[in-house]
Amino acid sequence: MKVRYNEKKFETIQDKTLYTKLKDEFTYINSLLQTNNEYLVYGILIRDAFTYFYICEEDQNYPVPYNSVFFDLIENYVPNDWKIKIKYLENKVITLISFKEMVDNNVFYENLVNGSKKEIEIFNEYKNAYSYQSKHDSIYQNLNIKKIAEKLNDNWVLCPECNEAWKVNKYIGVIKCPNKNCNLKLNNPYAPILTSQ
Ligand SMILES: [Zn+2]
Repeated sequence: MKVRYNEKKFETIQDKTLYTKLKDEFTYINSLLQTNNEYLVYGILIRDAFTYFYICEEDQNYPVPYNSVFFDLIENYVPNDWKIKIKYLENKVITLISFKEMVDNNVFYENLVNGSKKEIEIFNEYKNAYSYQSKHDSIYQNLNIKKIAEKLNDNWVLCPECNEAWKVNKYIGVIKCPNKNCNLKLNNPYAPILTSQ
């Protein structure tokens, strides 16, 4: 999951009450983040009717929750190993959706922020995994690639050039025909299409 900070989004808020309520938060966030910067998301927090994205600046060891109203969604796909926790705290409902250590361990985030070696190691593993996935194996089809494999059953596909059939990982957007004489790059018919492409 990836988002882009967009300072212009704040000015498009039509609701006066909401605009006033978010003004200070916007000024603060805008002093920290560079507009158009893209960030991988490490968790989602829902609190007081707002949704927050946990994002991490390059020079930081831990992610910080930022109000989602200031961001554009670049990749709206949530990692398939995330978990959810719903907490009730002083008459409020707090929902956290994130990787398992963050959700299962109540002190994970606190330890991470305080610089605990173990938590930093775990977080860095997710950081590397998500960034690798985002760079190399996009889960979306690439619309610059015009040809698409033919969909068979049970994650099997057929190459339209050489009729080779093989089984694919449905979480990888672009696949390659395994026939050595062909090796054509194709979109994966099981993969979703990113609507903003
Ligand atoms: Zn082929």
